[in-house]
Amino acid sequence: MISGSISIRNRTGEEKHRIERPKGNLSPVWGVCFNPVREDEADVWGDVLAVVDWSRTLSFYNLAGKQVGKERHLGFDPVCVNFFSHGDYMIISGSNKEAVLYTKEGVLVGIVAEQESWVWCCKPRPDSNQVAVGCQDGTIAYYELGFSTVHSLYKERYAYRENMSDVIIQHLITEEKVRIKCRDLVKKLAVYKHRLAVQLPERIVVYELTKGDSNDMHYKVKEKINQKVECTLLVVCTNHIVLCQEKVLQCLSFQGVKEREWIMEAAIRYIKVTGGPQGKEGLLVGLKNGQIVKLFVDNPFPLPVLKIASAVRCLDLSATRKNLAVVDDTGICLVYDINTKELLYQEPNANSVAWNSQNEDMLCYSGAGFLNIKARDFPSHQQKLQGFVVGFCGSKIFCLHMNRMSTIEVPQSAPMYQYLEKKMFSGAYKVACLGVTEGDWHALAMAALEELDLQVSRESFIRIRDVPYLQLIQNFEERKKKGESDTVFLADTLAYQGKFAEAAKLYKRAGNESRAMTMYTDLRMFDQAQEFLGSDDVQDKKMLIKKKADWARNINEPKAAAEMYLSAGETLKAIEIVGENGWVDMLMDISRRADKADRDALMLCASYLKQHKQYAYAVEVYRRMGDIPSLLQLYVEARQWEEAFIVANQHPDYKEDVYVPYANWLAENDRFVEAQKAFHKAGREDEALRVLEQLTHNAVNEKRFSDAGYYYWLLSMQCLDIARDGNNQNEKMINKFWDLQRKAEIYYAYHNVHRYIEEPFTSFLPEALFNMARYLIHQMFSDTLVGVSKVAILYALAKQSRNLGAYKLARHAYDRLQNLRVSQRFQESIDLGAVTIRSKPFSDVEELLPLCYRCSTTNPLLNNQGNCCINCRQPFVHSFVSFEILPLVEFVLEDGITDEEALRLLESDSSILTEQPSWLEESGGKYQSLRIDSNIENDLDADPFTAQLMSFEEGGLEFSPVVASRSVLQSMKHSDVIISKWQSPLHYRYFRNLMPDVQITKCNSCNQLFHSDDYELQVLQKGYCPFCRYNPEESQVTDN
Ligand SMILES: [Zn+2]
Ligand SMILES: [Zn+2]
Repeated sequence: MISGSISIRNRTGEEKHRIERPKGNLSPVWGVCFNPVREDEADVWGDVLAVVDWSRTLSFYNLAGKQVGKERHLGFDPVCVNFFSHGDYMIISGSNKEAVLYTKEGVLVGIVAEQESWVWCCKPRPDSNQVAVGCQDGTIAYYELGFSTVHSLYKERYAYRENMSDVIIQHLITEEKVRIKCRDLVKKLAVYKHRLAVQLPERIVVYELTKGDSNDMHYKVKEKINQKVECTLLVVCTNHIVLCQEKVLQCLSFQGVKEREWIMEAAIRYIKVTGGPQGKEGLLVGLKNGQIVKLFVDNPFPLPVLKIASAVRCLDLSATRKNLAVVDDTGICLVYDINTKELLYQEPNANSVAWNSQNEDMLCYSGAGFLNIKARDFPSHQQKLQGFVVGFCGSKIFCLHMNRMSTIEVPQSAPMYQYLEKKMFSGAYKVACLGVTEGDWHALAMAALEELDLQVSRESFIRIRDVPYLQLIQNFEERKKKGESDTVFLADTLAYQGKFAEAAKLYKRAGNESRAMTMYTDLRMFDQAQEFLGSDDVQDKKMLIKKKADWARNINEPKAAAEMYLSAGETLKAIEIVGENGWVDMLMDISRRADKADRDALMLCASYLKQHKQYAYAVEVYRRMGDIPSLLQLYVEARQWEEAFIVANQHPDYKEDVYVPYANWLAENDRFVEAQKAFHKAGREDEALRVLEQLTHNAVNEKRFSDAGYYYWLLSMQCLDIARDGNNQNEKMINKFWDLQRKAEIYYAYHNVHRYIEEPFTSFLPEALFNMARYLIHQMFSDTLVGVSKVAILYALAKQSRNLGAYKLARHAYDRLQNLRVSQRFQESIDLGAVTIRSKPFSDVEELLPLCYRCSTTNPLLNNQGNCCINCRQPFVHSFVSFEILPLVEFVLEDGITDEEALRLLESDSSILTEQPSWLEESGGKYQSLRIDSNIENDLDADPFTAQLMSFEEGGLEFSPVVASRSVLQSMKHSDVIISKWQSPLHYRYFRNLMPDVQITKCNSCNQLFHSDDYELQVLQKGYCPFCRYNPEESQVTDN
């Protein structure tokens, strides 16, 4: 309003705020305009109101009516203000007869229009850079604004002007950007290394990097040169500023002192700092007349480089400064060798050019909507691109388009392939290093390998980590040293690539056919391999078949493999396969065809046959080989003892091979008796005895006394066998036999006593235990036996004696126990028994006292002489179950009577007896008994044998047995005589039963004597003789 106030109202027209300009009606407001700011800057510049008034000022307010930003003096009376270009700029016109452009902050940028009279109105066209003005004199003018690009690039640092008053520095690799606000119009820019120079209307500001490393983006002001200069180009060096104005170049120090001036022959179009030592940098200058000169900051004389036909538009020097690329005004890019000045090549349609900073031979140029990448003199590779190329670093191209710098990643594949085409592998490699795909690397590596450029090839394979090829290359290098031909390498390469046919051809050409064959063999392409087989090379042929077979085996075609091995003469391998697969027929076939002398093959066949339990076939093979030991071993393993025995009998040398394992087998199966026999047959008595002794030993240790007795009996019989076999050890063996028999009997009896002691219950009657204990005491007066406890025997004896009324014997037993070491377990009981027995009479019950059947003497219960009559010394014969004394008297034959004769004489007697019906036969149940009438018995007083009974010396020290003469023998009833038919070298033993009504049974195996009832019960219970474990029924079967 004319009063200098501004009213801010809402949509309905209601006033929200009122702004008063300071000078009131001295500063009438002529123009107001809100900034139509873009959203990204809305926080700072949103809703800012620009105000112009006739106090010649420009001011800014926010919606709350508060002044913001800096008030600016305009220097004329403004009448109109308008923002445009989305609020970046504003345009103000008025009494100065001009329309002037300002930044949104009010920094003067420049004059848009100059007219003859006041410019009353200026209005930008929306979304464009066009402005229309209306003037006092009625002129309406229409202008278009051009914003020139102000920028500078040095390597990866790019600086450009934004919004006329800001400088943006962009790091093209890290993509980092910084903004420097100059708050004044930026006229020119220059970057060089760590320097940045900005030309403002009134001065030049030089910035430097604070840290100076390659990625640092922190600039600070270094110098300010407060000079107003005019220039078309600005260049900054480490210590200097170079200004360019038409033909003149001026070099200023940072203090603003002009140090040097050069005057060119034509206008300067392009300047490039080519680098150099600090303070001595070189500049390359392109002139309008086509001249290119070189300058050094510290040198007053320009050096002409070369001259082209038309004006220079752009130029660049290659990485190593060998080549120079120039773009001229006609859009031709020319490349020169800088030393020889020779034109290397030229390309049309260029507006700018840049050399690759990492590859000497590569450049790119842009123009006509394309980007061209060119390596050496190869045709250039094109891709679409709008704008100007300004830099080329590795695979990155920096491109300027519409004031924006963009980085384009360009694959280097195309130039690389160009190098490849020319087989320039190291060049291709260098290009590839700038960035190509894995496929390109592979192509390069393969191409190099095919040409045997191993160096490049290896480097390339390393890039893609292709280990197999790297190994191949290493292999080549080693073989190369040995002077192998390149053709072979080439063939190897082809083979690696899978081009087998070509590889094979090359191998053949190189005269290395075996390699081709090996290749095909490895590939299992046996038919092809065959083609490369030398016609006369049998060895190779076999090798080939063998490999084929190996393969067939590996792929689980064993049948084919086996057949191939057979045809290759690899019989053993064939047998292995056949054997493992258990093809018995095939095995037999092979073995039948095999030569007899080929023992290995036959052995293998047989062993497989055996493994598959084809014993009959295996036997056939062994027989064919005449391998008796193996044959026997086979029978033994198969436990086919019968066959083994037959063979062993035919070949007595190998007897041992059969019988020893047989015996072992028997022993393992607890068939010791048979094992004994087998050892005997094998002639291994020592072994037989050893096994048995071991068994006996174990049985005693484990307190299996019944077994111990049995084993001792077996041992004793063994001794008897040895004695019979007629060695000169006869007597010794017979003594041993009797000794072992005695031990067997003791252990046999002791077994029951032991059980009685150890276990609370016993199946034996007190009488039986009493008898056993008494028997043992008498048998063991003089010595001891391992495992047999005298304490146990005496303890049992004492207890049973007391029970039965044999107090005297019990006392004796207790007395003897006092002198022995007794285990704690029995001590108390023994002590008690020893005391309490004193209350008993000092005598034994009458009926317990044994009667001698020879001399009819009643014996005491204890006889220091042993188990014999105290009077006639006739040994008592015990029933081997109850250990009662049997009514038997042993007699011997008169000298000169053989056992055979004695038998005959005894048998003859039976005829007499049958004539006399003096006996009765009783049939009752299963048994038969012979009973002789008491009448008849009386008649027998005249028995000559009875007379003989008394034929001993009363009280004599020597025992004299009853001797039977022929007549005595004849007189005896055969049934009253029991004959123990011991085998030679022992003699028969004869016992006369003096109480024929007492049934007595003799075991046919061990010759022990029993009460018939006891024996039969035992056989019924156990199934065999309790002493020798012989089964009478079984033997009857075998006898029959
Ligand atoms: Zn007697
Ligand atoms: Zn027996």
